[in-house]
Amino acid sequence: MERLLLSGNEAIALGACHAGLKLAAAYPGTPSTEILEAIAKFPGIYSEWSSNEAVAVEVALGASYTGVRAMACMKHVGLNVAADAFMAASTTGVRGGLLIVAADDPGIHSSQNEQDSRNYARLGKVPCLEPSDSQEAYDFARTAFQLSEEFDTPVLLRPTTRVCHSKSVVIPSPKLEPARTPEFRHEPGKLVMLPGAARERWHKVLERWEKLAAYTETSALNRVVEGSAELGIVASGIGYQYAREVFPNASFLKLGMTHPLPGRLLRDFAGRVKTLLVIEELEDFIEQSLRSQGIAALGKEIFPRTGEFSPDIIRDSAVKAGIISNAPAKSLPAAGLARRPPLLCPGCPHSGVFFTLSSLGHRSTLPGKKPRTPKMTICGDIGCYTLGAYQPLGVIDTCGCMGAGISQAAGMAKAGAAEKPLAVIGDSTFMHSGINSLLNAVYNQAKICVLILDNGTTAMTGHQGHPGSGVAATGQPAPRVIIEELVRGAGVRNASVVDAFDLKAVRAELRRAMASSELEVIIVRGDCPTLTRKRGRPRVISTEKCDDCGACLLIGCSAIKKSESGGIIVDPGVCVGEYCTLCQQICPKEAISESIGVAA
Ligand code: SF4
Ligand code: SF4
Repeated sequence: MERLLLSGNEAIALGACHAGLKLAAAYPGTPSTEILEAIAKFPGIYSEWSSNEAVAVEVALGASYTGVRAMACMKHVGLNVAADAFMAASTTGVRGGLLIVAADDPGIHSSQNEQDSRNYARLGKVPCLEPSDSQEAYDFARTAFQLSEEFDTPVLLRPTTRVCHSKSVVIPSPKLEPARTPEFRHEPGKLVMLPGAARERWHKVLERWEKLAAYTETSALNRVVEGSAELGIVASGIGYQYAREVFPNASFLKLGMTHPLPGRLLRDFAGRVKTLLVIEELEDFIEQSLRSQGIAALGKEIFPRTGEFSPDIIRDSAVKAGIISNAPAKSLPAAGLARRPPLLCPGCPHSGVFFTLSSLGHRSTLPGKKPRTPKMTICGDIGCYTLGAYQPLGVIDTCGCMGAGISQAAGMAKAGAAEKPLAVIGDSTFMHSGINSLLNAVYNQAKICVLILDNGTTAMTGHQGHPGSGVAATGQPAPRVIIEELVRGAGVRNASVVDAFDLKAVRAELRRAMASSELEVIIVRGDCPTLTRKRGRPRVISTEKCDDCGACLLIGCSAIKKSESGGIIVDPGVCVGEYCTLCQQICPKEAISESIGVAA
């Protein structure tokens, strides 16, 4: 029997592939990114990075309409972007099985908020499956397609960070090869949602709902693990694994399908145990359902409603509530791991423009000097460049959701802000949704300055392609949308391109654009060093010339640091040298130069 060690994301990809998947579309986002990366390696399946999550769902839905099996993947906040398409898919139903994966991020490891995607299943009246390990991730992905076709519905798969990224053993089942020729059949009553047809369809959605509610009562997705009648636990996702560890003798109702919930099964289980606990990460989703049926259970008054669970958190909460009396030894973090604040990488093309903004906007102060009152309003966006919010740069004043910075700056300008607002957005986010905001700014004549930081990739999630990158999901070359042409085509009259590593040019262009009374777009272009892997001759600081003024530290480059003796040095192991030279350009004493005798 084949046994594979897979992460949850790899298992979802393999499960979908073994279910006969024909098309997968995604927008990268932690913790979901690796699903499409894994699928892109399978032959015979079309895979793409879509420009955003709504597009991904629409592409997958279109494929489903032709009768083939399709899926769309995203992180939880991506489902907000895709909500309209998600509801449309729920209303029309499917032809080929349609799987939508929304990976939640409890604890906000790499997101702008913490939200529970199961609420979308409730809104859209679609089934929601929650795997608790890689085997279930594999099995549930397979089952989702069969459920989707049987009940004429998209299926939401909701893994969470720990399931996505942890590896465990998967025993795969034989691969299915559904024999299907993609074919579109005309059926306006199902697929054209004019009000009359939509009303009809919504009745069908409600009928579907009744059938799913009956199905979940006996589905193998939900199962009882018999144990002590003293304590019964209803659990889902990774919370189930932790709860098994903490309460080894309890009875469990393990829910793999958390929407719709099996009301009868829950009532039966509750009736057989003395104390009933609900252990689920994030919202009291299952607990609410129990409460609505009049079933007494303890849940969020004991276990946290926010953050990621761990066995220790569950154990400590249970001890505090008097459910268990002793707390065995806690798991300890691996010794010797230093905590590091997130930083822009050495040689990052964002460092120079942020340093310039920091200096023009009075955000940075040389050691020993008095801080100045900040100038400029800088609306940020989602990407590596959000790290510009940290010291010593401190140049991001707002950041909430994808593509919002340009619109927020426009709103400030229209509200009558005294100073011309500025928006900073990366190339991938610009393609995702920033372009809509720019069109709005052009149309409504917003006098703002937009900086598009173009490093040619979706760097934050691991260098995935986007329409401006020239690289497809498979790694093959793809047509490249040229950002300046797109911007000019959108009606922007003043659009310029500057080299991200030419500080003089960046400063001059910024000053000009901020002084102009027009909408200005500056594309600041420079390669991401962790993508190109180019390493030049590292810079070195002359101890004779350096007067320790600290100006070079204000770039925020992690290659520049204080030595043990107190002087400032460059770490030759990480400096990218002539592919950057930012520190060299700003040193007032010309103390920084190319190192001699160090191999490039
Ligand atoms: S290397 Fe230059 S910028 Fe850095 S502390 Fe020395 S004199 Fe100042
Ligand atoms: S050249 Fe200077 S700023 Fe650039 S990576 Fe090296 S040390 Fe950092």
